[in-house]
Amino acid sequence: ESLSKLRIHYKDSLINKTLILTGFKTLQSGRTSGAGERALQERQRQHMARGLPKQKPIAGVKEVIVVASGKGGVGKSTTAVNLALGLMANDQSKSVGLLDADVYGPSIPKLMNLKGNPELTDKNLMRPLVNFGIPCMSMGFLVEEVAPIVWRGLMVMSAIEKLIRQVDWGNLDYLVIDMPPGTGDVQLSITQNIPIAGAVIVSTPQDIALLDARRGAEMFRKVNVPVLGLVQNMSVFQCPKCSHQTHIFGSDGAKELAQTLGVEMLGDIPLHLNIRETSDKGQPVVVSSPDSPEAEAYRRVAAAVVRRLAEHPR
Ligand code: ADP
Repeated sequence: ESLSKLRIHYKDSLINKTLILTGFKTLQSGRTSGAGERALQERQRQHMARGLPKQKPIAGVKEVIVVASGKGGVGKSTTAVNLALGLMANDQSKSVGLLDADVYGPSIPKLMNLKGNPELTDKNLMRPLVNFGIPCMSMGFLVEEVAPIVWRGLMVMSAIEKLIRQVDWGNLDYLVIDMPPGTGDVQLSITQNIPIAGAVIVSTPQDIALLDARRGAEMFRKVNVPVLGLVQNMSVFQCPKCSHQTHIFGSDGAKELAQTLGVEMLGDIPLHLNIRETSDKGQPVVVSSPDSPEAEAYRRVAAAVVRRLAEHPR
């Protein structure tokens, strides 16, 4: 066995050398872009992919969509919830679930107005709690609300593993995962352990949030998760009194970032009191004010996500 390991190691180191040499030749010959570089990148990608753990699908779940953001407070969870509801509102025949993977600060229980401990099935799997027709699972159902969640590396990983593998989701067309903010170990572990149909990145047009969003998009690319696109949140504030529109963080930051990264804009969500208030009450805007322009904005994002998923069949 150790001999075969050694062989593999030797083969890998040869491939590494070849890659370095090819890269060097590419540079030397001045072909810094184009076919040579693309071939090199593809070989590097394949090489890296071999070192990644094998992905195992979640039983009963057709497509997993992760909602991510480079930093907290940009409206990621609000988007995840309204995206899940928007997917169902656009096509009633679809079943959608919601997994809160933000173990540090779970917000799905509040946003979806859910409380309590999940029951166990005969197979010892947790039954998700359901509201607005959406089965949900969150660390918030398993720990006391008041207890500060102080987790360390391995505990976080085992919590995530439980949330992913020990839940009876039934049959779902889409499972929307609300990721923790940033690009740390939890995000990597999720993307490496389950096949993900695509990532939605939420960002405000503020410069710093955009910079973080860029890091997020790059992480998904590295682990071969298709980036479905960017949602620009809180870009426009419409005065409820005079309907004047103000671009709080600048108007087109996310659009420019999308262009630079070569990803699509999935939509714009306005900064609106209705979104904040309905979220705080656990009555997401897509279900509580379905006729509002805010709900329409989320449904448009959901439609764009479905369209993009069709372009990336797995
Ligand atoms: P994150 O998950 O990125 O930390 P949240 O979804 O929890 O962010 O949103 C942070 C706060 O901003 C919440 O109070 C939420 O209600 C509010 N919020 C999010 N999006 C909007 C919006 N488009 N308009 C108004 N308030 C919003």
